[in-house]
Amino acid sequence: MSTEIVHRNIEEHRDESLEILKTLIRQPSISAQDVGVKECARLLAGIMKDLGIPSEVIETPMQPVVCGEIARDPKAYTLLLYGHYDVQPPEPLEPWHSPPFEPTVRDGRLYGRGTGDNKGQLITHVLAAKAWLEAAGGPPINLKFVFEGEEESGSGGLAEFVRKHRSRLAADLVYVSDGGLHPTGAPVISLGNRGIVGITLIAQGADRDNHSGNKGGVAPNPVWMLAHLLSTMVDPAGRVLIEGFYDNVRPIGSVEERLLAGMEFDPQAFAATMGLDTLPMDGPTYWKRIMLEPYFNISGFASGYVGPGSKTIIPSKAECRIDVRLVVDQKTSEIFEKVKAHAARVDPRVQVLARGFGAMEASRTAPDHPAVAVVARAIRAVRGVEPSVNLCSGGSLPNAVWPTVLGVDHIGVPYANADEGNHGPNENLSLERFYDGIHVSAEVYQALADAHGTVRQ
Ligand SMILES: [Zn+2]
Repeated sequence: MSTEIVHRNIEEHRDESLEILKTLIRQPSISAQDVGVKECARLLAGIMKDLGIPSEVIETPMQPVVCGEIARDPKAYTLLLYGHYDVQPPEPLEPWHSPPFEPTVRDGRLYGRGTGDNKGQLITHVLAAKAWLEAAGGPPINLKFVFEGEEESGSGGLAEFVRKHRSRLAADLVYVSDGGLHPTGAPVISLGNRGIVGITLIAQGADRDNHSGNKGGVAPNPVWMLAHLLSTMVDPAGRVLIEGFYDNVRPIGSVEERLLAGMEFDPQAFAATMGLDTLPMDGPTYWKRIMLEPYFNISGFASGYVGPGSKTIIPSKAECRIDVRLVVDQKTSEIFEKVKAHAARVDPRVQVLARGFGAMEASRTAPDHPAVAVVARAIRAVRGVEPSVNLCSGGSLPNAVWPTVLGVDHIGVPYANADEGNHGPNENLSLERFYDGIHVSAEVYQALADAHGTVRQ
């Protein structure tokens, strides 16, 4: 059927949609501080029920999960919509032009903590479903909603929740709207994210700093221990030398090569965003390194004395922090074990600790997955432009839980403006992007029905 009446319904209810979002923003839900999260879960489930979507709050050992479902036809396609209703702490408060939990419209944007990340995006899926219910009696496919309350604190309970509720969450595809569009406002489809595992190396020499002349050549130097060890882990070109590190890295296929070659790259402009003069590489190399290759990073190194003047000591201890960015099929636990085994072989005196930032697995949906073209068609219908396909974002998200625990592929379609200011002060969501988001979700429901068959009543 034509989605025209649904889109008209969305346009007619712009103000009501904005009021619903404002209600959600007014309720703080700061998972890091455990402020208002449970209240927000109840509020969200209540809003969904009021809109005609059977919903409930499911308690977990951590923060509750809000689940909703429009089950129309057990044989029809089922889309699972994931989002998170918790937010980052708003501090520091001084730079905010209006209080973070008093939603305020200025210059076509709604300001407030959670507007972009992620209340303003998750609610578009709900509002699109509501438009389908009102205009057409219901969406053309089955919809499930799962909104968690601890994403901003690392989604530590999500995998266990999904494992426990596997049958309840069973679906054909997971759809995630988080993050921002291209800076020009152009739409994006995001297929995955890199993983991360944090590792700390500690080398201990003597139990105190020693005189580098009187004890030099006798007392062990922990900085040298780490320097030698690190040089056996990564070569000067950045290639990781640890045995088996690249074992599971997927080869880059022709579809990926084509997408990499088509991605925008301006060495001067991109370098400027990093505070560099230029980037000595071509576009495909730049994007390949961020999207499809792992990176072994040293994020901190501390030892000895670097204050004014000099202090001629042999330091007693050296510590190095590492974060390894992983690509799909490299498991965080395996990589940690490989780093540990390598260190044990090269210098067993060095302690290797899993520490820093919990681990998150990498995940990536294939660019030729049939849902990519279907979702692209829906975006084109609403926005009038072709979305760019982002093979993988360099950062980390909890998306791996969908293929690995639920056995379902995921696709990301961010709805927020690129300058949403998520995590920072004056977080905001462009109202046009918000309404666009509702239209895109509504159209995606129809596009999936067109591709897989509509519900039969
Ligand atoms: Zn966030």
